[in-house]
Amino acid sequence: MINIVRLSLNRTWKKLTLKQAMVLFILSFVFINEYVVYVIQEWRWAKVRPLRHSEDEVRLLLVGDPQIQGYNGEPPTIIGSITRWDSDRYLRSTFRQASNYVKPDAVLFLGDLIDEGSQAQDEHYSEYVDRFKEIFKSPTNVENIYVSGDNDVGGEGGDFKTKVKVQRYEKYFGNSVAVQKVKFLDFIKADYDFITSWNDTADKAKHLVKLLSGRFRIILNHHGILERFKRELYPRSEWRKGMKYKYKDKWISQPIVKMFSPNFIFSAHLHLPTIHICTDCTELDKEKYQWEGNTLTDVPDQIKFDLNSPNLVEIIQPTCSYRMGVPEMAYGVAVIDKNGALEYTLLWLPSRYIQLYLYLALTICVIVVVLFKLCISKIWPNSRKQTFYGRTP
Ligand SMILES: [Zn+2]
Repeated sequence: MINIVRLSLNRTWKKLTLKQAMVLFILSFVFINEYVVYVIQEWRWAKVRPLRHSEDEVRLLLVGDPQIQGYNGEPPTIIGSITRWDSDRYLRSTFRQASNYVKPDAVLFLGDLIDEGSQAQDEHYSEYVDRFKEIFKSPTNVENIYVSGDNDVGGEGGDFKTKVKVQRYEKYFGNSVAVQKVKFLDFIKADYDFITSWNDTADKAKHLVKLLSGRFRIILNHHGILERFKRELYPRSEWRKGMKYKYKDKWISQPIVKMFSPNFIFSAHLHLPTIHICTDCTELDKEKYQWEGNTLTDVPDQIKFDLNSPNLVEIIQPTCSYRMGVPEMAYGVAVIDKNGALEYTLLWLPSRYIQLYLYLALTICVIVVVLFKLCISKIWPNSRKQTFYGRTP
């Protein structure tokens, strides 16, 4: 039987013309690039604890800096439509894959949802929101928690954060300062940014304290919290020595810890996976504090934390978009037990740029073959039709 199939395939292969062989090759190439690569990538993801459908466990999917592309930053021609379409498609398919893999109770969107959100006109903004919600669609039983970032409401460089921008954001994504509860966890959105003083943030957020009733409290913020004011306190060259740094100084983040007593912090904005661990942050009367930051690219499959520990940990979630200028993209997964055990891992995504470069190489090859064939037919117009395998009889 196998021999018959082999023989039949052999005959079909020999009968293929060059044109048919090329079409077959291109289709196989697209299939591998658009499907097989993602299946293989999923095989390489770290195992996430099996679903228990339990009130004693919360499963979280973390989405950092998706920044769906807008109209002004992309070329105005059809090229812009193609680049937006490809970026949306990548986010949509990888999010669905990650969501099916994790089966989360809640999805945490850690800010910078829309690349041009802060500067968009109203009609464009509502289009961006529609696109965003269509890309990151979850089942109705999954809680979506949105945090605002500087690309959504301003707040970095000359792009100022204004009341109007915040109100427009809140119309579509809910309050930017709020507590959202998922089972035994309180998620605190304090909206602590680069430019607002702590006093202003505290004024806006102080009413949240009364709403806290969960067993553990997790701060969600777009900008990093434990590194607050590091840029102002230290010259850039000093704090960017590799990605490992250690400093002692006044703990300016202390008030936010004092106010909410968080057990953990998730933030984003850097686009790179980073962890900050502060070993003495809970000693509130200390003038000095010590914390350490490391990248998370070379960690084991799962990192385990204990929410009851006196150490305060902040994880900075990397971007999931290939358009953010970093070579590695990922979604994050955190599974938290009622006893405070937290397991975190990253679901790394395939490099879309490598795939796009392969398409470019394929297009060049096809053009070369077609031109070569045209030249041959001009030079030898009476040459016989050729199969991929050899000349026809
Ligand atoms: Zn940002």
